[in-house]
Amino acid sequence: MTLSVMWFRRDFRLQDNTALYHAINEAQYRKEPLLFMYHLDPKFTGNDTPNHRFFFDALNQFIKNCEAKGILVHVFEGTWKDAFSQLLDHFPEMTSLYFNKDEVGEGQKRDKEVERYLSRRNIRVCSYEDYNIHHANEVKKLDNSIYKVFTPYFKKWLALPKKEPRIVSRETTQYNLIKNEELYNKGMKTLSRITNSMPASVILPQEDNALELLQSFLEEKVDHYDRFRDLPAVDGTSRLSVHLRTGTLSARTVLYYIQEKQQKSYSTGMDTFIKELAWRDFYNMIHHHFPESKTKEIDAKYQQLDWNNDEFLLQKWKEGKTGFPIVDAGMRQLIQEGWMHNRIRMITASFLTKDLLMDWRLGELYFEEMLHDYDESSNIGGWQWAASVGTDAVPYFRVFNPITQSTRFDHGGEYIKKYVPELRSVPETYIHEPWKMNIADQEKADCKIGRDYPEPIVDHSLQRKRAIQMFKELK
Ligand SMILES: Cc1cc2nc3c(=O)[nH]c(=O)nc-3n(C[C@H](O)[C@H](O)[C@H](O)COP(=O)(O)OP(=O)(O)OC[C@H]3O[C@@H](n4cnc5c(N)ncnc54)[C@H](O)[C@@H]3O)c2cc1C
Repeated sequence: MTLSVMWFRRDFRLQDNTALYHAINEAQYRKEPLLFMYHLDPKFTGNDTPNHRFFFDALNQFIKNCEAKGILVHVFEGTWKDAFSQLLDHFPEMTSLYFNKDEVGEGQKRDKEVERYLSRRNIRVCSYEDYNIHHANEVKKLDNSIYKVFTPYFKKWLALPKKEPRIVSRETTQYNLIKNEELYNKGMKTLSRITNSMPASVILPQEDNALELLQSFLEEKVDHYDRFRDLPAVDGTSRLSVHLRTGTLSARTVLYYIQEKQQKSYSTGMDTFIKELAWRDFYNMIHHHFPESKTKEIDAKYQQLDWNNDEFLLQKWKEGKTGFPIVDAGMRQLIQEGWMHNRIRMITASFLTKDLLMDWRLGELYFEEMLHDYDESSNIGGWQWAASVGTDAVPYFRVFNPITQSTRFDHGGEYIKKYVPELRSVPETYIHEPWKMNIADQEKADCKIGRDYPEPIVDHSLQRKRAIQMFKELK
């Protein structure tokens, strides 16, 4: 009896999952049983970072939720070659493999190797674009070249027809699935070595809570998204990024529900939100066409910049002890929650690169370790944008002023006070520049600068000039 295999990767859901939809329908058509699998690669399991811990806990949750529905996801451990040779030893009658492909990074390379390996053994490999609303080669200019600037990209993106979510019934999902308990238990034992490390307060992404979050965002927040999305003290964004990252929700489904709502009512908030979803596709497309962009500046003229590598400054930035309240609040939010507000990601990234003049790659790597919603393409895109070295990036001479940004987007200092408790009693006049308090003010606020809260580690106006000079020298 022949069989097909569905390979889950970063798509922890049963609905609107392109590869799964095809795997189920085609296996049924061929009257073949279907095996669900996950491949655990030591390359990733060995990385004990908040990002990976969160991801593997989310995987564990997905597999357990499937088990509760009578569905077994079998885990294979080892390099991809080990995993697939184990799979073939157990199931030599396998005829087809289904998965949602990676268009970028290590995942893309691995997918190509797996495809070659299985094709040589006469196994059909069916892979699909699923991670984005529009994949890396879909939104192009008339001459088939890619857009490097977001605005015209978005215009074209918006005009293209969109795919509808692919829904399968519960009965269909469970039809003729292979349940090899011995193999399943072995896989779960392996997985248990690296899971259950998140504190109970962390809500793990799951398909059900993703849909609930989306619905409540659409009912309560999306209409005001454009007004509140830049204010870190307001819970005004969707917080869907962890779901999109683990795949507990598909970007297509998100767009589908917004467009459905748009047909009944209109708000500029919805338009702005759709644009943000398109940024995710834009950065995936850029990363696909600039595969070295994790380590190389996309704008070649900035590849020779002489960044600073001062370990001490880097450490202060990571710990949230720079003496700039808005930066410190952001870096501490990242440590506490594994997430940071978008405006604050821009401010902290700009601070590292333009105020500390430090290599953007160091920041990208630190965010990779820490972010639960880590998405390689969006993170690289965000960092190259902030460092002014990417495509459609912030111009190098427009350096973010951390004090102006703080005053504008966290006016009353609510966000700062939440994450920097030393500053809780500092009056509004000084909350963005606490070093300006005189001794009496410091005593009153129970915050002595240099003892309870650090002096600023750099002089912003001086560093701004240095940053601009560093770029100018390369022009
Ligand atoms: C330096 C830097 C690093 C970043 N690293 C990541 C990352 O690793 N993973 C990640 O998902 N996003 C990253 N972003 C983009 C953005 O900050 C997050 O997507 C957003 O904060 C997630 O919160 P949310 O889901 O509430 O966003 P919302 O504002 O509700 O947006 C909805 C969705 O749109 C997408 N989106 C929004 N803004 C952007 C953007 N600027 N670029 C790409 N996609 C966007 C995300 O998928 C997000 O979930 C980064 C931005 C910067 C400046």
